[in-house]
Amino acid sequence: MPERKYDKYFYSYERSREAMERNSSGPIFQIDGNTWKGCNAGVGGFFRPEEEISNPKEYLWWSGHPPHVHREAEILLHIGTNPNDPSELGAEIVLYLGPELERHVITRSTIVFIPPNFIHCPWTPVRTWKPWIHLEFHQSLFPSEKGFWQILPEEIVPKISKKDFPDRDY
Ligand SMILES: [Zn+2]
Repeated sequence: MPERKYDKYFYSYERSREAMERNSSGPIFQIDGNTWKGCNAGVGGFFRPEEEISNPKEYLWWSGHPPHVHREAEILLHIGTNPNDPSELGAEIVLYLGPELERHVITRSTIVFIPPNFIHCPWTPVRTWKPWIHLEFHQSLFPSEKGFWQILPEEIVPKISKKDFPDRDY
């Protein structure tokens, strides 16, 4: 079919079968101001039931994205896939908020609003027993970022690779 005028506004993503078999959960798409002019940044991930993390308490502190802020707001969506009960998430996710690292456990389909310049993370899916979808949308074309690792316990900071989480445009 010849290319039509508005085809450019459609983006289908796919993940190879090998990737799905090798790594059952993970990101499935990423968009930003380079994908479409004027489009805010977003990431989507698909989580499948996996083995439980053996020691979630230890794991949480050093895994996932360390505490950080963005200049603009961010929205984190956790969406269950049970057609009979869309509020059922089928997973347990731990999210730390604020400079106090207030601990929150998400077990239902939930949307979390992260105001501009608000410290958030680590964010860690501890357990998944039903498939669910994670979406993350920034209210900016290219998200800025500044790390706040100094609020983590002292012994944790050396375990984080600075190059994996660089400060950006802040
Ligand atoms: Zn963030």
